[in-house]
Amino acid sequence: MSDYILRAIDNKSEIRAFAAIMTDTCQRAQKIHALSPVVSSDMNKLLITAAIMQLMEKNDDALISLQLSGRENKVNLNAVATADGYLKCSAIVGTMNEKNMQSELKEGFLKLVRDIGMREPYISTVQVKDNNLGQAVQDYYAQSEQVESYVIFSDNNDEYMGLIVQLLPNAKAETIENLKKQFAELDWQNISALGAILEKLSLKIVDKQMVKYKCNCSREQMGKALISLGKEQLQSLIDDGEPLEMGCRFCKKTYTFTIADLHDLVV
Ligand SMILES: [Zn+2]
Repeated sequence: MSDYILRAIDNKSEIRAFAAIMTDTCQRAQKIHALSPVVSSDMNKLLITAAIMQLMEKNDDALISLQLSGRENKVNLNAVATADGYLKCSAIVGTMNEKNMQSELKEGFLKLVRDIGMREPYISTVQVKDNNLGQAVQDYYAQSEQVESYVIFSDNNDEYMGLIVQLLPNAKAETIENLKKQFAELDWQNISALGAILEKLSLKIVDKQMVKYKCNCSREQMGKALISLGKEQLQSLIDDGEPLEMGCRFCKKTYTFTIADLHDLVV
């Protein structure tokens, strides 16, 4: 099964929705980073949100990065969505047991970085209370973009899904009332429910974007990172006399640079 996001809108342009089916991507992330259930649940939400936010951008090359940090900054999760529906993530989780992890993630901060090719990326930070990432994403849209949104995540039967519904500027009061009613009655159990939900909200699917976990790291990129350390640092690595192993934090692939390779980088 492949992952995808549906974009839907009502015929009066009052409501729009993005529904993501991301089981493969979430399972891949869990496997690469050996995530515990508590961490995994948050990472899935970050990946789903990043993927939907990327699709919301008008600029196809936009890069979206979501970072969740725990109350004492001992946990740091990062999900990145790049163009073409590619996603990747990294996790710094230390060596906490699940109970301490839950306490660490109970309060935290969600940082959103939108890089749409301007000189500086847009950065916003919202507080996360009671580990409720859906609420934090809603708060972000309300505060930073003045858009009323509803965010729902689901991981029933090991199927990972997310839904973001937004009110457009010309939404009428009765439409908003109806939307709230539909949400209260939502039966969000499995993938087949997703289409039914969009139908119940009288939304028409207008676009389908495939998404998947894919890291774009390369040997060349790692080499550039080494060059950016500066000549002095590079020389000290050469003087250590050992080949250097560099790991990618997103896909865990390692790149080995021999002393000769390091010499080539010092120009
Ligand atoms: Zn990589």
